[in-house]
Amino acid sequence: MSETFLPFSRPSISRAAIDDVVACLESGWITTGPRVAQFTEALKDYLGAPYVLPLASATAGLHLTLLAMGIKPGDEVITTPMTFAATLNTIVLAGAKPVLVDIEPDTLNINLNEVEDAITDKTRVIMPVHFAGLPVDLDHLYEIADRHDLRVIEDAAHAIGAEYKGKRIGSRGDTQVFSFHPNKNMTTGEGGCVATQDEELARKIGLLRFHGIDRESWNRYGKSGNQDYEIVLPGYKYNMMDIQAAIGLHQLKELDQFILRREELANRYQEALIDWPQWTLPGNPPYPHRHAWHLYTPLLNEVTAKMNRDEFMQTMKEKNIGTGLHYRAVHLYPFYRERFGFKEGDFPHAEYVSERIVSLPLFPAMTDADHDRVLDVMYSIFK
Ligand SMILES: *Cc1c(COP(=O)(O)O)cnc(C)c1O
Repeated sequence: MSETFLPFSRPSISRAAIDDVVACLESGWITTGPRVAQFTEALKDYLGAPYVLPLASATAGLHLTLLAMGIKPGDEVITTPMTFAATLNTIVLAGAKPVLVDIEPDTLNINLNEVEDAITDKTRVIMPVHFAGLPVDLDHLYEIADRHDLRVIEDAAHAIGAEYKGKRIGSRGDTQVFSFHPNKNMTTGEGGCVATQDEELARKIGLLRFHGIDRESWNRYGKSGNQDYEIVLPGYKYNMMDIQAAIGLHQLKELDQFILRREELANRYQEALIDWPQWTLPGNPPYPHRHAWHLYTPLLNEVTAKMNRDEFMQTMKEKNIGTGLHYRAVHLYPFYRERFGFKEGDFPHAEYVSERIVSLPLFPAMTDADHDRVLDVMYSIFK
């Protein structure tokens, strides 16, 4: 095979971003500082959120938001089994119990019609995932949350740039957590942020992200700062560095272009694969929305394909094409089975999807020729 390996995802880092990372390194200030402050304002503008806190990762954001909401042992948090482990791990790290609700088989988002049955007097938070960048039905979600006086943390790791009824994810509701991991729609290397409408929550997350110090180091050691500070609680070390923000400032400017290209490629897959009996394509909800297309995740039918998903991924790899697996249903991992007693059969739709889902290559720098190559290889496998 003479062709180079095509990965399932690859970040697009501009020359301007690279130059600014170098400028940051040469500036003498590389950790949390002026670039993070600038990135915070740029994110507020883009998202339409009053409070935004850049962090070391989305995992840090989920963890701190749960803690800042006062989640503690004995509390329950409702979420989906079709997600990255971080969603559930942070619930456990906060001491709470993850209560799972099965997904809708077509959108792969949590089935809001079943959420109410899972609410108990211990439930404190609903934590849905905008799967692959497809917004959950926010009107329905917040109607349930309001009726039961619950908080909402939207795991928006896939969803920066997504819109629900004409409004960006992050511009309304309670709290959203975004990821800037290299595979996500925009990157800061590692990184993430919390967006919230709640000033008091933002203040608490601000304390928790940096040692419980009520003034960050830049303010203390900069020219205008004063070095005095108070520790008001034992915080974490979850701050974002200026090196990361330097990348993020450029990525954010390019984000809408990135999403437009992702959308073109996703539509190209939809059109090309619609008649293939091997695939069940991602579904579309009826409400107005803009999909951020973080992932393109059809389901492989092992009968018509004459191979299962794992064999398909292996075959693609042998033909120099990378694919991804997002995700295996989280409740079936050993820790979750053992600690919470989850078992096969608990969430049939998530388990069905877990066996069949595959992420096909999708990233902004992918060319039409790359895309044709993926389709040609799949055609040669299935013909
Ligand atoms: C990537 C991801 C996270 C974690 O993001 P990090 O920035 O890597 O910590 C959380 N939830 C979901 C659904 C994700 O895909």
